Amino acid sequence: MRMILVGPPGAGKGTQAAFLVDKFHITHISSGDMLRAAVQEETDLGKQADGYMKAGQLVPDDLVIAMIIERIAKPDCANGFMLDGFPRTRPQAEALDANLKNAGVALDVVLLIEVPDELILERITGRRSDPETGEIYHIKFMPPPADVAGRVIQRKDDTAEACTARLEK
Ligand code: ADP
Repeated sequence: MRMILVGPPGAGKGTQAAFLVDKFHITHISSGDMLRAAVQEETDLGKQADGYMKAGQLVPDDLVIAMIIERIAKPDCANGFMLDGFPRTRPQAEALDANLKNAGVALDVVLLIEVPDELILERITGRRSDPETGEIYHIKFMPPPADVAGRVIQRKDDTAEACTARLEK
């Protein structure tokens, strides 16, 4: 099963992705997670991507395309994959298309989750995560348990400003 998950930030893609990859035994590939890991590890890609991400801007196509094309060629994607956060631009979609054609395979599903902008802003600015487990919470809709509340962190691009910039992309 080769699948693309599309939707604005805060639509619940992460939650649905976790459920679907488990159900279909496919590999979850989140461009945002990969880029954040690259920034964390200070790889060449990470150093180039960091500034764009902090500003809520898209990382340049050539960097993201190379990262994803390389990733879906790995053995753990032979049974399929779920792309989450990619493609985000027309050139990315075209590059993916060309790559899959070359490999003689096709996408099975493109799943779009639609959520109105007003809801997105509230979800995103209230989003927090537990740095120890990666668990995602919301200060109002899904508050962290008392023993976790003290250590939750907010993503740098989950401010109202950066979120509005991301929604406009
Ligand atoms: P969100 O969906 O909440 O914006 P992601 O985790 O998907 O967050 O992405 C975080 C950041 O990583 C984006 O704001 C952007 O800078 C970068 N990024 C992720 N995917 C792409 C992509 N396909 N093309 C360009 N930049 C990307």
